[in-house]
Amino acid sequence: MNTIESNNYTIYFDNSLKSLSEFLAQKKYSKVFILTDELTCQYCLPVLQEKLPDLTEFDIIEVPNGEENKTIDFCIGIWRMLLDFEADRNALLINLGGGVVTDMGGFAASTYKRGIDFINIPTTLLSQVDASVGGKTGIDMDNVKNVIGTFTQPKAVIIATDFLATLSDRQLTSGFAEVIKHGIIADADFFNEIIELASAKDISEAQILKSISIKNKVVTADPFEKDIRKTLNYGHTIGHAIESWSLNNEKNPLLHGEAIAIGMICEAYLAKELAGLSEDDLEAITLSFLKYFDHYIIKQDIDEQLLEIMKQDKKNTSGNINFSLPNKICHCQIDILIDHHLIKESLEFYRNLKN
Ligand code: NAD
Repeated sequence: MNTIESNNYTIYFDNSLKSLSEFLAQKKYSKVFILTDELTCQYCLPVLQEKLPDLTEFDIIEVPNGEENKTIDFCIGIWRMLLDFEADRNALLINLGGGVVTDMGGFAASTYKRGIDFINIPTTLLSQVDASVGGKTGIDMDNVKNVIGTFTQPKAVIIATDFLATLSDRQLTSGFAEVIKHGIIADADFFNEIIELASAKDISEAQILKSISIKNKVVTADPFEKDIRKTLNYGHTIGHAIESWSLNNEKNPLLHGEAIAIGMICEAYLAKELAGLSEDDLEAITLSFLKYFDHYIIKQDIDEQLLEIMKQDKKNTSGNINFSLPNKICHCQIDILIDHHLIKESLEFYRNLKN
């Protein structure tokens, strides 16, 4: 079994999930809870139960699926269930799901009775390569993504790629955006390797492991995002604003990775203007995302709304919108403040592209 060491916890690459039984046998928790959403309850919990038939002593907490439910209301629901089931400080919460479940479950666990242990078992590509690792927990509020949250490390992360079998192609592709990001910010060979894949479905276990290793290296070096961890925010300043706008205005909103892919194209344009990214690298980045993601129509009249959302971004300082921008494929600069007209120009750059 492959393992990676993170900040005081281990990431297990373990389709058998035996690492979970071993962990539980060692720790002797007073109670075990499994947090799922509707779909992971349907698709992933039976897989877990089949792999670990002896694991019977747990209670299930289920939340509705989807980013729109990553809110304080559902978090209260989790706290209430923990209270109703008499969870004490020695209880464990296992987050079985995508980034919504691992973010919100991690937040609920890190605040319940001043903090109980939690484990992440991520079931989407996005949560395996990104959300489950690094200790950022959180919920959204008033259109602003992840604005309430904590830095709290899980006690373990267990990656079982078998869970991806039931994930839709759209969700897989969404997660692939973060895999590409890891190549852009840290590893040109990895970037060149993965953009050769015909689709996200072709990603191998080794490539998932590599992607997690890149993220883990960054977050162990800088757990509280004072420095190098900010490089992981590439694409997320504009991407989060577009994601929030879409969530609030569209019937079939963009997924996280889809919005971040748009953000990475816009921010690559900014990187060319301000961080020294070459025309060739801008083109390579743009083409890589357009290969996997349909071109999205950003309505002409929403630029001001997007800027308003960006102003709420928690990465900002003193009211300035803060960016992390690659200066070449494999390296990213941080803390770049950019004025509004250039941000609008980058949105226009995206609008003028075609698949
Ligand atoms: P998600 O959790 O909403 O999952 C996507 C959908 O797939 C959901 O409908 C879910 O029910 C379903 N699903 C999950 N696993 C499945 C499976 N195995 N089979 C079938 N369906 C399954 O979304 P996501 O893309 O995993 O995560 C996005 C979230 O992660 C966002 O809220 C984002 O802000 C957060 N995030 C956090 C970090 C971090 O560092 N904490 C990093 C990146 C993203």
